[in-house]
Amino acid sequence: MIKRLYKAERELFTHCLTFVVLMAMIGSAGYVDARLRPKEAQANLVQVVNNQVDQKKSEEKPEPKADTAPAPEPEPIVVDEADPNLPPPLTEGTQGLSPELVQRFDAFRTFIFQKYGVVLEIRSGYRSYEEQAMLYRTLPAGRANPPGQSNHETGESIDYTNYSAAHNQHLELFGLKAPFPGKEDWHIQRAEVG
Ligand SMILES: [Zn+2]
Repeated sequence: MIKRLYKAERELFTHCLTFVVLMAMIGSAGYVDARLRPKEAQANLVQVVNNQVDQKKSEEKPEPKADTAPAPEPEPIVVDEADPNLPPPLTEGTQGLSPELVQRFDAFRTFIFQKYGVVLEIRSGYRSYEEQAMLYRTLPAGRANPPGQSNHETGESIDYTNYSAAHNQHLELFGLKAPFPGKEDWHIQRAEVG
């Protein structure tokens, strides 16, 4: 009987001990859990804050707009005195010529240069009586008027280089004419001069 009581007591003690140990384990586990949780929570909070900051940064980034593209660099100004759209200045053979004729011929040659890329020059302009007389003597018959009868002597005619019927079809636009088409296509004068 005593032995049985003792045995029961011992079993009870063992159970109690087991219970205490279990409680201690549970308690310590809870303690550890409680100690760890704030850190986890803190880490999570830090992560959330970081995510919010990142999101804010991405929202603050200005979106590229099509109409605010950077202005293109201004092109450097190239100073080129030779205008590619103009022939070289007319300098030769203008002496003694009617200024009005020279002006019209200059406009004509600019037009021809722009249309055909050909530069026209004055081969023969004003001639004195003596010069006309010499031409009349030296050139084949019919190639030059007798002295005193040429519009070159009055500064009203130009014989030009690189002449052609194709060029002459535009003479009228500039108040000019070629009075001897097919014969002297190089010889031009003002339209109103006979
Ligand atoms: Zn002529």
